[in-house]
Amino acid sequence: MMKKFIAQVIVDNKTSNTDKPYTYLIKEEMLEDIREGMRVVVPFGMGNRLIKGIVINIEEYEKEFTKFKYIEDVLDDKPIISKEMIDLSFWMRDYYLSSYLDALHLVMPPGNIKEINTYINLKKEWKEKIGDLGPKEKEIFDILIKNDGISFENLKKLNKDKNLRRKVISLEEKGLIRTTLEIDTKIRKKYERYVHLCNREVLLDELLLDIDKRANKQIEILEFLYNIDEISMKELLRTTNTSLSVVKTLEEKGKVAIYEKEVLRDPIPDDICKYNKHELTKQQKYCVETIYSDIKKGKCDKFLIHGVTGSGKTEIYLQLIEKIIASGKQAIVLVPEISLTPQTVERFVGRFGDNVAVLHSKLSNGERFDEWRRIKEDKVKIAVGARSAVFAPFNNLGIIIIDEEHENSYKSSMNPKYDAIKVAEKRCEIEGASLVLGTATPSIETYYRTKLSEIKLLTLDERINNKNLPMMSIIDMREELDKGNKSILSIELYKAIEENLKNKKQTILFLNRRGYSTFVSCRKCGYVVKCDNCDVSMTYHFKENKLKCHYCGMSLKPPEVCPKCGSKYIKYFGIGTEKIEETIKNYFPQARVARMDLDTTSKKNSHIKILNRMKKGEIDILIGTQMITKGLDFPLVTLVGIIAADTSLNLPDFRSAERTFQLLTQVGGRAGRGDFEGKVIVQTYNPSHFSIQMAKNYEYNEFYETEIMMRKEFKYPPFIDILDIVIYGPEEERVINSAKKVHSDIVKQLEKESRRDLVENIFGPNPAPLEKLKNNYRWQILFKCNKNDLDLLKGVIKRVCIDNSQSKHYKGIKFNIDVNPNSIL
Ligand code: ADP
Ligand code: ZN
Ligand code: ZN
Repeated sequence: MMKKFIAQVIVDNKTSNTDKPYTYLIKEEMLEDIREGMRVVVPFGMGNRLIKGIVINIEEYEKEFTKFKYIEDVLDDKPIISKEMIDLSFWMRDYYLSSYLDALHLVMPPGNIKEINTYINLKKEWKEKIGDLGPKEKEIFDILIKNDGISFENLKKLNKDKNLRRKVISLEEKGLIRTTLEIDTKIRKKYERYVHLCNREVLLDELLLDIDKRANKQIEILEFLYNIDEISMKELLRTTNTSLSVVKTLEEKGKVAIYEKEVLRDPIPDDICKYNKHELTKQQKYCVETIYSDIKKGKCDKFLIHGVTGSGKTEIYLQLIEKIIASGKQAIVLVPEISLTPQTVERFVGRFGDNVAVLHSKLSNGERFDEWRRIKEDKVKIAVGARSAVFAPFNNLGIIIIDEEHENSYKSSMNPKYDAIKVAEKRCEIEGASLVLGTATPSIETYYRTKLSEIKLLTLDERINNKNLPMMSIIDMREELDKGNKSILSIELYKAIEENLKNKKQTILFLNRRGYSTFVSCRKCGYVVKCDNCDVSMTYHFKENKLKCHYCGMSLKPPEVCPKCGSKYIKYFGIGTEKIEETIKNYFPQARVARMDLDTTSKKNSHIKILNRMKKGEIDILIGTQMITKGLDFPLVTLVGIIAADTSLNLPDFRSAERTFQLLTQVGGRAGRGDFEGKVIVQTYNPSHFSIQMAKNYEYNEFYETEIMMRKEFKYPPFIDILDIVIYGPEEERVINSAKKVHSDIVKQLEKESRRDLVENIFGPNPAPLEKLKNNYRWQILFKCNKNDLDLLKGVIKRVCIDNSQSKHYKGIKFNIDVNPNSIL
């Protein structure tokens, strides 16, 4: 039987019933030109409509192939995504149970890939190299001379050479042309006017020959241009202090040319100062050397740098990167939502300048595409960004560094609901790169893996210059109540703020706000209603006036008086940053107060403005949420107040103790970074809780040992995996019935697989913690499952939910599946 080659093609068709690869035959003469990761045009469906798709696999095929259609055309001269990235997206699809398209979109260029085109430009030095061309190449090149900047697609219309693609690649290799990807619509290129001399071959005297000697400005401009290649009009007018009309006159005289030139949209501000290299401390040096010697040996290992706040982790990253790029490889650095930590960006750009691409969520589409292209075309060696920067399309990746690895923003809430740390780990395995995680408060899961020796642990227990960690004092708010102080500020915090104002130092007040989740607690004794089975706080639901456990579904009537002390001060908790701002302004009318939370920072750059005012000392008291805990380094901040540690402690989440420990340690790390000692005041109704006591003394190891025992006892990660299915839709009745059907179908399937034992770890269906969201009713089924059973369970869920999602039973119903969710709220 004859052998042929076939390609698997994913077509960009949004309906989920085409979410599978389609098989197409490759014509003999196309074989040389087609690669995995290129876009193709294929006939699709009954009418053989021509649509664009992407090749994900090419293989030899020996069986019956008459039923397949042929690929019509190949659109790219080079793959727009690498084979490794395709593999990574497939892994995500399997692991997170997402669609092919959703998973592929993450690794593809930003924007609509149907609108991407390759453009061909002449290189300046083409004249010197034209002698090397064969007659066919010459023919193509003649078209390019007449059409500088032509798209590959249009070139194909002008030249029907069968080997056009290879000839273009050869022209590029010979150095006559350069090709670049550009996206056609929506994303507009930015142009600026440029000026250069028309005739560069003449001497200056000749150039000035027919210029009036009194036309000083004209002469000045010509002299200026004589010494340079080209300059933007803006720059020219500024440096020579002339007006546009003078340059226009020179253009009319045929002396200079004014033309439009594409400028790359550069999202990085220009005013970043150089960030000089520090001489490493002994501990820093040990880290850099250990990691780098591993890399040199070609091992691609995983490391966790556990370094207290202010121990100089960033300098370690910077020096590692320097070595990596010197060896010809590239580096990715992930930081929690980058726009919030301008100080971090400044350090990377300040050290490596133009070699850094910055990727964050506030980039415009155009900026995003430019940064993607700079990475793809090897113009930069370092990408710094938030979560999705893990997909930066480097082709020779050496290292992925993830700062503040404990942060929950590394987990995506969109499909596929990937965890950037897990994806980074996978990418490093596929591409032979090393992974470095860094934090002062490792996540329990990551630290556990250092104990299993899956990740190598490096510890930094000293702050730079041996600065002390700030003193943390814990205020028992129950005692405040006893003293008759019903205010949200304890007497100690009030006095400390007053003192700080007097000394012209800055204060940060922190509140962890989760508006929708409320727990019931006693202000007199600190009692919180928890579920006996799950050891998490129960959540108050206003509508039904009930307390519910979101892990096992148990529900209770809320107590009228405290079951422990009998006090009537038992109520649901919840104060917002606004309320605090109001109180503070009341108490300290003379202070300059600013508030930083989602409401005040939704506009682009508004948080930077607040942070800059803070930096310049124009704010005395900054009130904020999570945002202010990350990576900020203000030398004048000497007091940090945590208004209510309980809001994180009593979240209905098995990670609440961990979050509280992290929060106190990280927020504490913001104080006393300059020359003055810092102080942290923590207010709580639960001062003896281990997470608070151990954070107070900066005892990470003790905290870990306590917490890991609880995780084992109550069966939580890292000992098991959690799977969460939310079933939602606009009609309540349908949602409830669907949730019940999903549940019973899963049980049936498990019985078929002879795994009835897994059923006892299915919880629900229950109404989700957010029962109604954007007019959708939401029900939830939760699974706890041993690592070994994860694949089996996922297979069952896929069959029941995904493969059936189009069935009539689930009309108007959607599924939201999350593997190891951050939280189940
Ligand atoms: P971390 O990220 O561990 O909290 P940073 O990287 O922010 O710590 O470092 C804290 C401070 O110490 C920064 O201001 C940094 O510039 C400075 N620093 C880092 N390494 C050194 C060093 N080897 N010598 C002197 N200063 C250093
Ligand atoms: Zn009580
Ligand atoms: Zn429970």
